[in-house]
Amino acid sequence: MFLDGKTALVTGSTSGIGLGIARALRAEGASVVLNGFGDEAAIAKLCEELDARRINTDLTTVEGAEELMASAGKVDILVNNAGMQHVAPVEEFPVDKWNAIIALNLSAAFHTARLAVPQMKEQGWGRIINVASAHSLTASPFKSAYVAAKHGIAGLTKTLALELAQCGITANCISPGYVWTPLVENQIPDTMAARGMTREQVMNDVLLAKQPTKKFVQVEEVGAMAVFLCRDEAQNINGANLSVDGGWTAE
Ligand code: NAD
Repeated sequence: MFLDGKTALVTGSTSGIGLGIARALRAEGASVVLNGFGDEAAIAKLCEELDARRINTDLTTVEGAEELMASAGKVDILVNNAGMQHVAPVEEFPVDKWNAIIALNLSAAFHTARLAVPQMKEQGWGRIINVASAHSLTASPFKSAYVAAKHGIAGLTKTLALELAQCGITANCISPGYVWTPLVENQIPDTMAARGMTREQVMNDVLLAKQPTKKFVQVEEVGAMAVFLCRDEAQNINGANLSVDGGWTAE
């Protein structure tokens, strides 16, 4: 398999999109390092299924990112995926939520990348894949921290791409639209409160209203894109922001 001998570290991979990416990379032979939180028994099962190590450091802190990279060892494929969301009007947006979202959705990717790059440069090969969002290209109300962090990670990705272009390393964003994962499910109550809507109205008039297909993206589709970015055929895809959003950002 084409990723035999390569190690992939996927942040936030105990759930949702990160887990989908980890499964897809493992299926191509990569050794996978999982990161994230959740039900311990379920995570132990995942580690067994994927023959994976799991390092559960908190990526809202610099120390957590540093500990993750020190424990992971050699990383050939770095997938910055861990993320969180909070939905509230800007004047009510809790400052601690702002700080945590910027730390996890943006700063953690800087820290993991700065620590992974020396080894990637030394071996002359690497892939940095940042899971951004349609919200890296467009905004929605009540998501100030998330939209700011996602626009930021798109900029970070372009900078990494330019700096590393001659080192055999590519850096790209994958930007999904709405994917049915716990992150999306959990924001429904807050969105109901912020917009004064029912659950059904949030699903149809807010979430899927944006997606021309009127369907959620599947985690397997995002995983397949990550796999493609690791192929030699993708060596000139660099600094791109690849939308997997059913046409949302084509508007
Ligand atoms: P999820 O909530 O299902 O998974 C998030 C993962 O991050 C989990 O493994 C969780 O344990 C981990 N995590 C949370 N806090 C952490 C912390 N402090 N340190 C380390 N790990 C932590 O979410 P998801 O929907 O799979 O989202 C994954 C990524 O995809 C996020 O960056 C998100 O912004 C992005 N995204 C999601 C969607 C969507 O519709 N679901 C759309 C676009 C982009």
